[in-house]
Amino acid sequence: MNKDIATPIRTKEILNKYGFSFKKSLGQNFLIDPNILRNIVGHANLTKESGAIEVGPGIGALTEHLARAAKKVVSFEIDQRLLPVLEDTLSPYDNVKIVHSDILKADVKQVIEEEMPGIQDIMVVANLPYYVTTPILMKLLNDQLPIRGFVVMMQKEVADRITAKPGTKEYGSLSIAIQYYVTAEVAMTVPKTVFMPQPNVDSAVIRLIRHEQPPVKVINEEFLFEVTRASFAQRRKTILNNLQSGLPSGKEKKNLIIEALESVGVEPTRRGETLSIEEFGKLADALYPHFC
Ligand code: SAM
Repeated sequence: MNKDIATPIRTKEILNKYGFSFKKSLGQNFLIDPNILRNIVGHANLTKESGAIEVGPGIGALTEHLARAAKKVVSFEIDQRLLPVLEDTLSPYDNVKIVHSDILKADVKQVIEEEMPGIQDIMVVANLPYYVTTPILMKLLNDQLPIRGFVVMMQKEVADRITAKPGTKEYGSLSIAIQYYVTAEVAMTVPKTVFMPQPNVDSAVIRLIRHEQPPVKVINEEFLFEVTRASFAQRRKTILNNLQSGLPSGKEKKNLIIEALESVGVEPTRRGETLSIEEFGKLADALYPHFC
């Protein structure tokens, strides 16, 4: 097996060879611990028949572990300076395709069709750039990609919000926007010391596995997310007050909102953070005829 890219010594050698300087604005905190990389890849349960989509390969630390575990790896990197580095560090692997693109602008579905024909099991596995974690996840979920799920590293605080359960202080519209599509759990927390340079925040790896069916069927998904965003706008307010302020002409429609809440068994004095996705789904459908 080839020598790992992600040891501190080899990473420094590679960075020196290319005179590479980290760009904080691109969230460049590279992993320098092969054990953590093995654990991340382990959580994805890849086989030699699987495909892996990576966001931000950096100098290829995680990419090479994916290349060893999967049939094909496609990795999107925004920073042009890393392309010659990756060509060098990943030269032992013939199953890696680097796409020079901002993941937010990429047509990932088309790239999968072109690069992974016939591959049935595809996971997104990445150490995400923290400045743009949520937009990346929302884009990849909304793109309706043929994937099984995600194993991704992010800021621990965001991981806690994404995986939060009702009744906790972390639970909010982000938890629902993500858990509507996937089951979400924290797979492991990660110390700052395994990065170069070390980030200012704690990190965690989460595992998201796509639902066969959404946990609740709704008339209109966008409206469900509008209702949840409105319900959490001011956490200390009741759901009735939040919906009155957050939905269009909500104040004039107070009685209709009360009626809708009561019709699905939700006390108007409850707070948004106590409602499950199923309850939000029923509530969104009850409100829908009055607001859309
Ligand atoms: N995977 C490497 C590792 O674990 O050592 C690097 C991870 S680093 C946290 C994030 C990587 O994402 C960097 O290589 C950065 O240049 C890249 N990146 C940042 N924004 C991006 C974007 N919008 N699209 C694609 N790559 C991006």
